[in-house]
Amino acid sequence: MPQIKTQDFFNASALSIKDPELRQALQRVGTGFDNARREAIDEVSAEVWEQWREAARQIKEHTIDHLDYYLELLHDNVTKNGGQVHFARDAEQANAIVADLVKSKGVKIITKGKSMVSEELSLNHVLEGLGTEVYETDLGEYIIQLADETPSHLVAPALHKTKAQVAQLFTDKLGVPYTDDIEEMARVAREVLRGKFLAADMGISGANFLVAETGSLVIITNEGNGRLCTSAPRIHVGITGMEKVIPSLHDLAVFLRLLPRSATGQRLTSYMSMVSGPRREADEDGPEEFHLVIVDNGRSKMLADPKLRESLYCIRCGACLNICPVYQKVGGHAYGWVYPGPIGAIVTPSLVGLKQAKDLPFASSLCGACREVCPVKINIPRMLLHLRQELTENSDPAVNSTPAWESILARCYTAIMNHPTLLSMGIKLLKLLQMPLAQNGRIRRVPFAPLSRWTRSRDLPALPKHSFREIWRQELSSPNQSDQ
Ligand code: SF4
Repeated sequence: MPQIKTQDFFNASALSIKDPELRQALQRVGTGFDNARREAIDEVSAEVWEQWREAARQIKEHTIDHLDYYLELLHDNVTKNGGQVHFARDAEQANAIVADLVKSKGVKIITKGKSMVSEELSLNHVLEGLGTEVYETDLGEYIIQLADETPSHLVAPALHKTKAQVAQLFTDKLGVPYTDDIEEMARVAREVLRGKFLAADMGISGANFLVAETGSLVIITNEGNGRLCTSAPRIHVGITGMEKVIPSLHDLAVFLRLLPRSATGQRLTSYMSMVSGPRREADEDGPEEFHLVIVDNGRSKMLADPKLRESLYCIRCGACLNICPVYQKVGGHAYGWVYPGPIGAIVTPSLVGLKQAKDLPFASSLCGACREVCPVKINIPRMLLHLRQELTENSDPAVNSTPAWESILARCYTAIMNHPTLLSMGIKLLKLLQMPLAQNGRIRRVPFAPLSRWTRSRDLPALPKHSFREIWRQELSSPNQSDQ
């Protein structure tokens, strides 16, 4: 697995916020992707969009509830098409399956299409350890491979980089003259990668969907690299999570409408490839072998948990990242692993363990925007609250990091809110305490924790002179009121 740095979300985000180049790069998230998504929805009308979302939700709900059946159907149909299906329990087993294929087939050069699951497994490092040359061919993935980084966004892996940073990276790593002309940089990458496509023995791709009724792997791209990875080399290995299966081509049509619009605001992506097995006799090209590696790696646990099962509906469109006020400020690397943003804050603790990622469920203001934009209507805030509850009620101190003062404060708050006399005494005390700090109804700085953290970046409203209860009592006792 890639290095897990999920233990320190808060410090990592504080550093990200201070990074001016990252802030510049992140401006594209809200203004670019999310605006395009809204325009695409307006085009079809909110009503139609809602119908599509509901249909997608029902398909996912049904498939995940009958996952064993659809995986078996997929297996049978891929096998009928001449492909081989491998089920991998965990990252180690998935990497071993691909490594065995590489060794037994004498593979020297591999081209790869975009695959978040292969990032999750750290497959590149395993393959490079065998002495194989591995080339990412999605432009964003290629950039982060050159930079030796992990993706910072589900759809745009190198979104955190400015074009000047990419230009410098190309100069440093590829030895080409510096240019920040985007077309020229894309041409350079294309020139390097074109030769690798032709020389590769194996192509590895992810999958956006797996269609059970036809045994097909579906890849949606904008660059055409997926098509070259799956058809030019003599072996094609598709590697993906087990939740990607959907029942039929009819169902696929629903997701083909939703995914590009939610991800980039496009009606359709430039390329949509369906791979149904290796080359047949009449085919002019295509791989001699097709292997499909279906990865569990913690997904069964999510499936077994009724409160987290919904996270398996995710189609990795990235819309929840683009709308999230936290992601927009800190970017993807602060989340410390492969899956960032609101959905990452659920998936990561489920896959790497709550103890390793206990900050992530708190990386949200619970504003609910992620739920509103999600094309499969995943209730992300509900799952975040569930994980928070699991953390705060966990008896293992290594998992439950709630500070003692917070528990005491919560108990005091409950006691005060349950006793009106205590509440009015508490309010009186707070009014006295705030007197030296309040000015014009605002408190600019509280000198002690935990409120000092709040006033570091915003004002705290001071308690008003009269509480609601006092105003209410006055109103009731005023002569006008008693006349009525
Ligand atoms: S949770 Fe929903 S919005 Fe977020 S990436 Fe997944 S499908 Fe897209």
